[in-house]
Amino acid sequence: MENINQLQGKLRSVYFELISEFYNHPNEQIFTIIIEQLKQITNARYIGLYIYDHWSKTYQLGSHLIDEEKFLNEEIDAEGGTVTEEKIYKISPDRVQTCILTLKPKKGPKALLYLAFDNQYNKELLQVSKSETEILLTMIHQYQSKSESDLNYKFLYELSSRLLSNTDKTDIIREIIAELQGLYPNLSFNLLLSQDSEVDPTLPVQTIEYSDDVTKRVSTQAFLSGEVQIENRLNGKSTYLYAPLIGTQGVYGVIQLVTKYAVDLTEQEIEFITEFAQTAGKAIENATLYENSIHLVSDLKLINDTTHKLNSNLKLSEITKLVRNKIIASCQATQVGFIYYNEEKNPKFDILTGSTAFFYTEKGDAFAAYLSVTEMGKEESVFNGNYSWKDNFDYRSLMVIPMSNSGTNHGLIVIMHEEPYYFSFEKFKLMQALVQHSTLAVTNTILKDKLEKAVITDYLTKLYSRNHLEDKIVTHMQKGEMGSLILFDIDDFKLVNDQYGHHIGDKVLIQVAKIIMTFLDSEDTPARWGGEELAIYAPEITINEGVQIAGLIRRQVEKFTEPMVTLSCGVSSWTKSVDDSVDELFIRADRALYEAKTTGKNSVVKNVKIK
Ligand code: GH3
Ligand code: MG
Ligand code: MG
Repeated sequence: MENINQLQGKLRSVYFELISEFYNHPNEQIFTIIIEQLKQITNARYIGLYIYDHWSKTYQLGSHLIDEEKFLNEEIDAEGGTVTEEKIYKISPDRVQTCILTLKPKKGPKALLYLAFDNQYNKELLQVSKSETEILLTMIHQYQSKSESDLNYKFLYELSSRLLSNTDKTDIIREIIAELQGLYPNLSFNLLLSQDSEVDPTLPVQTIEYSDDVTKRVSTQAFLSGEVQIENRLNGKSTYLYAPLIGTQGVYGVIQLVTKYAVDLTEQEIEFITEFAQTAGKAIENATLYENSIHLVSDLKLINDTTHKLNSNLKLSEITKLVRNKIIASCQATQVGFIYYNEEKNPKFDILTGSTAFFYTEKGDAFAAYLSVTEMGKEESVFNGNYSWKDNFDYRSLMVIPMSNSGTNHGLIVIMHEEPYYFSFEKFKLMQALVQHSTLAVTNTILKDKLEKAVITDYLTKLYSRNHLEDKIVTHMQKGEMGSLILFDIDDFKLVNDQYGHHIGDKVLIQVAKIIMTFLDSEDTPARWGGEELAIYAPEITINEGVQIAGLIRRQVEKFTEPMVTLSCGVSSWTKSVDDSVDELFIRADRALYEAKTTGKNSVVKNVKIK
């Protein structure tokens, strides 16, 4: 019989040989060689080596050898080679012939040796077996983790160079998924991403949820904390691992790995997945930053281009058309409306030309009226992807952006689309910037138009000035066929002033101006050409039609002024076929008016040009 030192030496030399040939043996083989040796040396009739798995908190059978069925420990082996520590220690501690050794190698997982004997066993021998095997297990672990981590390092390095050279997010995501499929063919996985990237719907990609009742979710925790989370679902049948996709500036999502049956993730694997997720996170970040910079450049270009064009002295309708077209081009809106506040109107706004068709419909006008009186868009812009107003209102995506400068709100730009959640938040921000840059041009032009109108408008009667009247006639005489000029002079107006005062005189003058305006065509120009002398230039009508209009006005004035006044009217006209001038046209009308005055007033007289 060999002594203990000899046995120890024998065991060592076998183990040493094993170490020098690690690379030839898979794990199971190594475990089998170990127990074969231990069985020989210890004379055990049953021997089993169990390796601790700290994710499942159980011991997994590495290998075992049985001489006879009776030595098989049903309690241990019934579980398919997986046992808990508690259970192992519960097994017949007082059965003399059985022994359990806990192996605690310096590195790597601990292990259990379960042995059964015919006779009393040699405690000293078992002690030697334990310490030698512990050394061996340490070395196995070191060897395995080194070769594995070398391979992993190489893999991650290559993956990282490949992914970082790509700036297309969809490509990157597709590649990450392909890699995961290759690495873990037996696991199921998902990419939970923080934003809705436009990803092929067949790929296992989901949007991460943030709402309150899900923040407790482990996936959300991994995302928020940026740390790997492991969750063993209650049924204990599968493990969920969540590795955050971390870049330098933030977390972009989470990789979810689900094991199908048992838990068999080693610490090293978890470390690998963590690093894999970080590589993927950096690549996604890289592509996101690239995409953002492209957007930023095109956004700046849009604003710059628009501002540049707005500075080139455009008419209001050209400005609104330009802004509308930029809005439609950049966010594919189907309707764009310019609602401009106007205190003189009822309801108090104008729909500016350049607005799209909807805003000229009855429904569009009602919607504009509604927006003009609610708080929407007054203080802050509105961004709504699920908007509803009235039953048959077709637009679900709505942006309402105030046109304001120097603290004054001049109106609203309304941008809409039928589909819900159609506009991105980035587009909304861009539209705000665009509106902000365009508002000054819009308000300045409206102000300029108002001033121009004020210059050519008489303050009291709101009729055009004499200059403007003459300009209009000159222009029309150049391009038109014919036209008539009607001059009005209020009869005995001095008496009105004397009798009722200047103030009432003014009021009567306004009444007469209003009556005149009700008889106008859109092309006609009404004017105040003297104190209580008014006029109409009507293009493309004959002298007799002019006389007719003058007659209608004369009768209305007689009927509806209060205090009552009457009008004397003089009408003249020109036609293209006869040589004529503005001065002569005025002289003839004035003569006709004079004739009306001298023949009893409250009448219409025409002066036909003598050829
Ligand atoms: P008729 O034309 O019938 O010959 O008599 P008339 O009294 O109207 O005489 P005329 O046209 O010569 O006088 C115009 C008067 O109208 C003189 C002026 O006091 C008055 N008038 C002119 N402009 C205004 C105005 O803006 N407001 C008021 N209240 N009166 C005006
Ligand atoms: Mg007069
Ligand atoms: Mg008069």
